Amino acid sequence: MNNSQRGALAALLIVIVVIAALAPAGIGFLFAQRNQRLEETERLNLFADATLRRAEDLTRHLLGALGEIGQVSAAPCSRPYLTELRRIALAHAQVRDAGAYDQDGHWQCSSLLGAVSVGALDGVTGGLMLPPPDWRSRDGMLAWYGLARLPGGKASLVMGRNGFYIAADPALYVDSHGAPAAPVDGVAVINTEVSRVIASAPAADAAATAAVLAVYRTAPPVRDCSPYVVRRSASMPLAVVVSAPHQPWRQRVRTLPWGWLLGGVAAGLLVAGWAAYFILRRLSPRGQLSDAVRRHQFIVAYQPIVELATRRCVGAEALVRWKYHDRIVRPDDFIPLAENRGLIQAITDQVLDTVLLELGDFLRRYREYYVSVNLSAPDLTTHRFLDVLGPAIARQGVRPGQIRIEATERGFLDAEAAKDVISAFRHAGHAVYLDDFGTGYSSLSHLQNFRVDGLKIDKSFVDTVGQDAASSSVASHIVDMAATLEVQVIAEGIEREEQAAYLHARGAQFGQGWLFSPPLTAAEFIRYAGRTRGA
Ligand code: C2E
Ligand code: CA
Ligand code: CA
Repeated sequence: MNNSQRGALAALLIVIVVIAALAPAGIGFLFAQRNQRLEETERLNLFADATLRRAEDLTRHLLGALGEIGQVSAAPCSRPYLTELRRIALAHAQVRDAGAYDQDGHWQCSSLLGAVSVGALDGVTGGLMLPPPDWRSRDGMLAWYGLARLPGGKASLVMGRNGFYIAADPALYVDSHGAPAAPVDGVAVINTEVSRVIASAPAADAAATAAVLAVYRTAPPVRDCSPYVVRRSASMPLAVVVSAPHQPWRQRVRTLPWGWLLGGVAAGLLVAGWAAYFILRRLSPRGQLSDAVRRHQFIVAYQPIVELATRRCVGAEALVRWKYHDRIVRPDDFIPLAENRGLIQAITDQVLDTVLLELGDFLRRYREYYVSVNLSAPDLTTHRFLDVLGPAIARQGVRPGQIRIEATERGFLDAEAAKDVISAFRHAGHAVYLDDFGTGYSSLSHLQNFRVDGLKIDKSFVDTVGQDAASSSVASHIVDMAATLEVQVIAEGIEREEQAAYLHARGAQFGQGWLFSPPLTAAEFIRYAGRTRGA
């Protein structure tokens, strides 16, 4: 990945993390706001319910008092009649006044003023006729809302029937005493049959009354987000409208349920942390390598191994490459990581699969060729790979001798286990080579401990052949030693003709290197083998 790609990825990472952090916080905020509204509506509903119950009770109470007047047997406005009226008015705290009027609506007497004559009251009230009622029920009940002509001059709620009436303070309808606490801005009780406001608090002005009626007519009974709620009585033509005050946003923010908000932020941070971790892991070399393993992004190159005497190809070494986008990554750049991170065994398996897929036919046809596969320490500590290899070649009809094993000293971390695994490979018919021979500290002691089929002389010793360097004779010593131990020698990294000639003269049987061929594709290798066969 180049720098600009990294920059783009880092920017993407930041954007994702910010979105991941903000989205749940935003959702938390919306929830907090919605919760706040629901709670507000709930409180308004409770308040409206309590007000409606009180309005119904009050109405029933006033009707009861009216009924009591109807029971009075004395002649209307007679002294005993007035005494009864006073008793009834005193007995009902909510009743302000009680009295009688004639069929034409002329006022006749009152518990407060006694019998009134037309002349006596003319100047006081400015009129003695009751106006037409604001509401008339089917059974003859009459109601006047806000009638100011009765004694005291205060607007009264008047209910009448059959020539007698009672008057009450309309404020009693909207008295919030004892109602559940709620941030209420206004409350109004409405007669739903004639859409008249019976009482409102704070005391209604014309505009407020019009607004309440408009809400009552248009608003659905309960709307989550509305600052109003409307409750209707099931038994009377009454409804209550309660409105919440318009809070400035600052106050709203202060009273938000911060638990939701903080919960959202916490969830956001969690999600963001997870996203960052996930992305960074995916972007890390390890994440990319395990992706590569999952997606089978490995290819295999085959470097021919030739017999130095005849220059005929006898086989190939399978060399893995990581195909990363349009780049080929060399094994030295990822094998150590794969070894450290436990991915090497999966890679070894994929190399074997590829070899059998690409060269299975060739190996079946030409039994004398082989392919050698490089193993790492984890492959050399258990029989796992052998258990994979055996059935795989049996399925392909490839001889065990056609798959050889290369093991470096680095692979002998657990020398005892490696010894056991190596002998198991050999027992199963797979020749085993000690790779990079001579580069480790204990190559010689390994040679004592392990029985192997061959040594691969490291390229660094082949490079110095023919030069004056102190190491220039190491290669020939290794060849001598191999001869004594009766194992084969393959010299690696032969680039020049004189190296091949020298090593051959010293007794090395096989060689590998650019002089003969670089690593090839399977098809190229098959062609190469064909050419040298004909040679
Ligand atoms: P190696 O096993 O010593 O493989 C030989 C390396 O030398 C190869 O490098 C090959 O391309 C290179 N080479 C061959 N002839 C010449 C030459 O004449 N001149 C020069 N300069 N180089 C030459 P490559 O393919 O990069 O592999 C590097 C190492 O990665 C291998 O060293 C081997 O240790 C490891 N490796 C490769 N494939 C696998 C695999 O499938 N599994 C494991 N565990 N290791 C692998
Ligand atoms: Ca090798
Ligand atoms: Ca080697």
